Amino acid sequence: MNTNILAPTAIVTSAAAQQQVKYNTKEIQEMDSAHYLHPFTDFKDLASRGARVMVKGEGIYLWDSEGKRVLDGMSGLWCVNVGYGRKRISDAVYAQMQQLPFYNSFFNTTNIPAVELAKTLVEIAPAQFNHVFFTGSGSEGNDTNIRMVRRYWDLLGYKDRHVIISRHNAYHGSTMAGASLGGMSGMHEQGGLPIPGIEHIGQPYYLEGGKGMTPEEFGLKAASWLEDKILEVGPDKVAAFIGEPVQGAGGVIIPPSTYWPEIQRICDKYGILLIADEVICGFGRLGYWFGSERFGIRPDLMTFAKGVTSGYIPLGGVMVGDRVAKVLIEKGGDFNHGFTYSGHPVACAAALENIRIIREEKLVDQVREETGPYLKQQFEALADHPLVGMAEACGFVAGLVLVKEKGATIFDAVSFPEDVGVGMVCRGHMFNNGMIMRAVGDRMIIAPPLVMTRAQIDEMVALIRFCLDQTLADLKQRGCL
Ligand SMILES: *Cc1c(COP(=O)(O)O)cnc(C)c1O
Repeated sequence: MNTNILAPTAIVTSAAAQQQVKYNTKEIQEMDSAHYLHPFTDFKDLASRGARVMVKGEGIYLWDSEGKRVLDGMSGLWCVNVGYGRKRISDAVYAQMQQLPFYNSFFNTTNIPAVELAKTLVEIAPAQFNHVFFTGSGSEGNDTNIRMVRRYWDLLGYKDRHVIISRHNAYHGSTMAGASLGGMSGMHEQGGLPIPGIEHIGQPYYLEGGKGMTPEEFGLKAASWLEDKILEVGPDKVAAFIGEPVQGAGGVIIPPSTYWPEIQRICDKYGILLIADEVICGFGRLGYWFGSERFGIRPDLMTFAKGVTSGYIPLGGVMVGDRVAKVLIEKGGDFNHGFTYSGHPVACAAALENIRIIREEKLVDQVREETGPYLKQQFEALADHPLVGMAEACGFVAGLVLVKEKGATIFDAVSFPEDVGVGMVCRGHMFNNGMIMRAVGDRMIIAPPLVMTRAQIDEMVALIRFCLDQTLADLKQRGCL
């Protein structure tokens, strides 16, 4: 085991990064809290502590305005799949901006990058997908899904078939419809959500609901909640089921192997459309172009965003399977939906170059065959740490559970009381030592850039272990252990 990590990467400074900054950190923080309302943030709390200012990215690393280097275990926000600093993407964007910075696709017009990207996406997606609808983000993609599945059933004459079933602790974005599809109670509380016609079932989180069962038994049980809900709502009222292949923002919830095939069977049985939200799982994250392939399901629609451009420029959309596309096209009539930036030529140019990089560097194969299995092995070995109840990985997402006391099985482990906020304590130590790892309750999660090498995986896992040690010492000192 690599225990000789004495110097956290945080102390690796970069003069080059500092030179980029025309203000000192304090000035930026003051302007920031004076004027900038951040997403998903307690504004008052942030103003009291000051934001960390990121000024440069290269490969898997970021530098802040103090010149400190950070290993980005989250790929920005699950999106920088090809890593930072890819000149090829910025060149492609620059060239497209000079050629044609914008034109819309509304009034029987199109543009070349959008067409090329649609063709490319169809090439990399499973065979049932031959059409794409572009949006500006993942949330807008999921809004599009709602509009599209309801339109589909309307066109077929099933005007009552409008209910969409999703899951608790799902994340499908933050627009009114995206947040409604999502199952985050904190989001539903603000804004009178969910909107009508959306139902939620339990998530396939083994640790939450699987006590006394094998993971496989629990997977079937969690899937059966879909059938229960369909029967409760009425099969003639249900339009679609939506789920992330692996839940991301919910805490990297990796479902048991039996779950998705059973969900597919139930959707087929009742003729319900299956929507895979691939915003995180797509573009190689799980070692396949789309996470659905990893779990052997055949969705009718797939939401994408994030990794499609590696986050360099905002872009999202929906892959529309033949079953739905055929009806929308053949029945005719306007689909009264779309965005100013649907098929934005610059965003599409960024996506095309990003996908070229993923293909040329064989990043999908690399994650599936080589670095994904290695990450799994190294990350899951963290389970021997006194604070770690369990650790699991799937492709390039991974999560571990912080526990106060281990038990004979994970179900017997003792959790920290909620007021300790153990995840946030741990995240603080990670952040201070140059490692970005996200906390979701007592789960600590990562989703590193797909370009990460074996040596960098070693470096990351050693750094995580170092920070876990610091967290342990801190918790002891506070009397929490
Ligand atoms: C991030 C995310 C979204 C929302 O995407 P935005 O681009 O932030 O609107 C939707 N679904 C999933 C699974 C996501 O992770």
